[in-house]
Amino acid sequence: MSLVLFNDLTRKKEPFNPIKPGHVSFYSCGPTVYDYFHVGNARPFIVFDVLRRWLEHEGYHVTFVQNFTDIDDKMIHRAHKENITVQELAERFITEYQKDADALGIRRPDVAPRATEHMPEIIRTVEKIIANGHAYVSEGDVYFDIKSWPKYGSLCKQNLEDMEAGARVDPTEKKRDPLDFALWKAEKPGEPSWDSPWGKGRPGWHIECSAMSSKYLGDNIDIHSGGVDLMFPHHENEAAQSEAASGSGKPFVNYWLHNGFLLIDNEKMSKSLGNFLTARAAIEKYPPLALRFFMLSAHYRSPLNFTPESLEQAAAGVSRLRNCRSDLDFAAKTRKDNNSTFDVKEYQAQLQELDKKFTEAMNDDFNTAAAMGILFDVVYLINTTLKENESLPEEFFTLSKNALKDYDDILGVIGDDEAENENAEIEKLIQERTEARKAKDFARSDAIRDELKARGIVLEDTPQGTKWKKELA
Ligand code: AMP
Ligand code: ZN
Repeated sequence: MSLVLFNDLTRKKEPFNPIKPGHVSFYSCGPTVYDYFHVGNARPFIVFDVLRRWLEHEGYHVTFVQNFTDIDDKMIHRAHKENITVQELAERFITEYQKDADALGIRRPDVAPRATEHMPEIIRTVEKIIANGHAYVSEGDVYFDIKSWPKYGSLCKQNLEDMEAGARVDPTEKKRDPLDFALWKAEKPGEPSWDSPWGKGRPGWHIECSAMSSKYLGDNIDIHSGGVDLMFPHHENEAAQSEAASGSGKPFVNYWLHNGFLLIDNEKMSKSLGNFLTARAAIEKYPPLALRFFMLSAHYRSPLNFTPESLEQAAAGVSRLRNCRSDLDFAAKTRKDNNSTFDVKEYQAQLQELDKKFTEAMNDDFNTAAAMGILFDVVYLINTTLKENESLPEEFFTLSKNALKDYDDILGVIGDDEAENENAEIEKLIQERTEARKAKDFARSDAIRDELKARGIVLEDTPQGTKWKKELA
């Protein structure tokens, strides 16, 4: 069976056929960088990272774009509260996002565009929508004209009358229809603004994704993903805008994928409800890969309830996987014997059988829950083989280690001991340098900086603390 995906456009599982054979264009809505992201936000970042890895494993060349929303009401309020600029706030939380995402094994996107760096593209998209007769200017704002777009509601499967009945009508609004949404908002005092043909202002939230996805992936893309709360209005609006701007008649997106909610006490985890735990706090308390393990232990579309026990169980799961790998390493040093009578062919056939099942699970709408179950069957097979055999041939160790590595390249739940140890060591040295600087022991702090530099680690001191990055060779 080849890959099938549940497409929210048709509410059906469909065989995956990319627009350009061998290539996948994939856009995922990214974080609004006004704060640390929470465990609920981590769910799409983790599950779609796995889909991206799976597509690559299946031989596709994937272009993965995930934006940073660095201008919106939340950004403006938070920057005011902290008495810093919106840009400073964005810089800070993009850095923090990357730290947490790296710790969670989320691979960096091929392109991570920021809305504020794409004003010309955003303005051009709005101009095209106006020119094609689907938006209008009203006192410096620009609105999408819902009535001009009969397809509106086709993703969220609602009709206009029902949506209008549910919409709040505010007589002070400058819109023709309560469902019309802003593409461009006229400047308000004290808010960042950009020049535009309609006067100074800033973009609406939805238009940035339309403009940036089209810039990097074109007007018709293979996959677009996000949490289920984004289906309406964000994705419905993105689709209307992008198709109204391109005027090509082609759909904006061929496969719409949405992850289910992460719940806490059976309620959606969210900033506004205040029932959230930041990913940072979770990974300070539990091993980061336990959070990843936990997310992948459910199907991405099912709701998933977060409890301390579930994280503890996930941490135990990660340990079991890592122990299997270290037991293998240890046995390879102590029990390798090329004269052993062990039936390698039979063992290889068992691994292949499991591999087939793993592929079937991943191809079935990337069912990571089932795939993780199969990874544990592999671990069970390795553990029992180790237990039952005093000596084992080299091929056993090579096959087993490669199997674990291949699965982990896709799921990323076992991790890399060496990289983790190195990161921990770097963080420890930076901490020591901060303390030396506080104590005015500059000889020591300079020595640490030089030592890290020799290892290709560059430090940058910022008001929020010391940042580090690895210099590319
Ligand atoms: P935001 O930064 O609020 O735009 O959210 C970033 C991503 O997290 C979006 O794809 C949201 O749909 C997703 N998201 C937010 N809360 C949850 C939740 N409780 N469970 C799953 N996904 C969520
Ligand atoms: Zn978006």
